Amino acid sequence: MMKRILSFFKSDVGRIILSGILFVMGLSFPESYKYVKLALYLLSLAFCGLPVFIGAVRGILRRDLLDEKFLMSVASIGAFFVGEWSEGVAVMLFFLIGETFEHSAVRRSRNSIRALMSIRPDEATLFNDGAEETVYADDVEVGSVIVISPGERVPLDCQVISGASEIDTSAMTGESIPRSVTVGDTIDSGVVVLSGRLIARTLRVAEDSAASRILELVENANENKSKEETFITKFSHYYTPIVVGLAVAIAVLLPLLRLATLKSAIYRAMMFLVISCPCALVISVPMAFFGGIGGAASRGILFKGGNVFSSVARADTFAFDKTGTLTTGKITVSDVECVGISRDELLLLASSAEQGSNHPIAVAIASLTDEHLPIEALDEIAGEGIIARISGRSVAVGNEKLMKRIGVEFTVKDGTAALVAVDGRACGTVTLTDSVRAEAASAIAELKRLGARRVTMLSGDRPGAAVSVGEKVGIREVYHSLTPEEKYSKLNEIKRESGKAVYVGDGINDSPALAISDVGIAMGGIGQDSAKEAADIVIMADDLSMIPLSVRIARRTVGIAKFNIAFALLVKLLIMLLGAFNIADMWLAVFADVGVAVLAILNSMRTLLRPTSSVRIPKFISNRR
Ligand code: ADP
Ligand code: MG
Repeated sequence: MMKRILSFFKSDVGRIILSGILFVMGLSFPESYKYVKLALYLLSLAFCGLPVFIGAVRGILRRDLLDEKFLMSVASIGAFFVGEWSEGVAVMLFFLIGETFEHSAVRRSRNSIRALMSIRPDEATLFNDGAEETVYADDVEVGSVIVISPGERVPLDCQVISGASEIDTSAMTGESIPRSVTVGDTIDSGVVVLSGRLIARTLRVAEDSAASRILELVENANENKSKEETFITKFSHYYTPIVVGLAVAIAVLLPLLRLATLKSAIYRAMMFLVISCPCALVISVPMAFFGGIGGAASRGILFKGGNVFSSVARADTFAFDKTGTLTTGKITVSDVECVGISRDELLLLASSAEQGSNHPIAVAIASLTDEHLPIEALDEIAGEGIIARISGRSVAVGNEKLMKRIGVEFTVKDGTAALVAVDGRACGTVTLTDSVRAEAASAIAELKRLGARRVTMLSGDRPGAAVSVGEKVGIREVYHSLTPEEKYSKLNEIKRESGKAVYVGDGINDSPALAISDVGIAMGGIGQDSAKEAADIVIMADDLSMIPLSVRIARRTVGIAKFNIAFALLVKLLIMLLGAFNIADMWLAVFADVGVAVLAILNSMRTLLRPTSSVRIPKFISNRR
């Protein structure tokens, strides 16, 4: 019991309470008990200030004279020296309160991001002929068979080989509706298995699995500092020495010029020292971005750095890829025509060739047959198609550009189609339908409401298909038949005309565009491909409404950071002015320092709140319609 009480009074909160009680007792004693007051104040100061004084001495030994502990110690002792005892204690007491609050705020936001990010289980259960063995997830090799029971988190990216279940992907994608998986489906690590037991074959080692990649991304994001953060670092470099210089000037010059007594000048200089601490900014601004990154990640939006926020917040030009971005990319085959070859043979050759590509069209065609012939040689031409050697034959699947490249004449009607040529001869056409994402039109409308002046589509598809998707989603400026290089140069042109451009792609065939845009947004999870590395924002869910949400998160985050900068500087400046003219007292200075820091930090912590997906109309209004 005794030990407990002792350790409580050693903690920051315990010291604040004890010191606070002594301080109030000191304040309430009548003036006539001068020495009782002084004793109470000194005792109170000892409780709250001792570690600060010790820290200050350490700072001096390190020759770090502008360390905040040193400044506060000088201010506190200085105030005592000129007979303002209560102020001298107040400086220390409130400094300690501010520090304690800052620490707990930083700890809290770190914890909430960590909780959010507890998506990587340490262990996996290996499954060998019915025997289960728990091992470290890091030790599991690709191709191992693991079992995941209901309630468990999937430790490694894997493919289901037995069982069926609902899975909760919310920690990874921000999507709250469970998805069902069954034999053949692949699942990312980090999702939670809800209902049935799954047996699955691992596709990647722990380090390469989705959960690890997300964690790495979010952790590294803090290293790419925003403009506002860099400003603060530079600013506090100059700000503190300048204010300390002013304090010295006031203490020396005012008495010399006979504008104030020495005592009053020292008192005012001490106020400057108290105000000189830039902690409100140094802590709250990075915290706003830290929270912004974490809050966005909880919705499955991965910002790769604080620096991305301001670009997105100001963006007014958006360019979208079509296939897999505005459309679902879940392409279905609606018609097959063949010339001089049997339908079965055409499909077997085309689907075998398309195994070599991960383009949405390729995935659709590859799934047309159950069996596939092995690929002997492969050449994928981005934005055109694929040429594969299969059973000694050259099979080309792609668009007219590809056919032109290999010198095959083709006449086709408009619409999305894959043309197939075997050994340099036109053999058939696979007509494809791809549906527009349900949320595409509303997401684009919301972007426009948020102030997007120019929304364009850059598509590699044929004019008919591109324009018709454009009409459905509300994009009038459509560029079609673009190769990846042409997408790149078109985007460059848009950038030149509009100043800044955001590019949204699915990451297949569009890494150049993602890389050159001011902000590249890759949709559809954190794949293994280079495109996701070129992107500045990765959106885990296949959901376009995350794009306007990203804009709103970015604006809120930047807004909070900027507000904090303006608020803290204005208050400090105002109180410095008042102090110089002897209107403000130490109490106000203490407020300017600690109060502003606390308010700014509270404001920054708002970024951690889980952002909602759209502006909701209150029930009572929507009911009336
Ligand atoms: P988009 O995403 O706008 O369709 P892409 O650059 O991904 O642009 O593709 C452009 C076009 O290239 C596609 O519409 C398709 O005609 C053709 N293409 C690309 N890759 C393949 C492939 N593996 N198989 C068949 N056609 C392909
Ligand atoms: Mg695409």
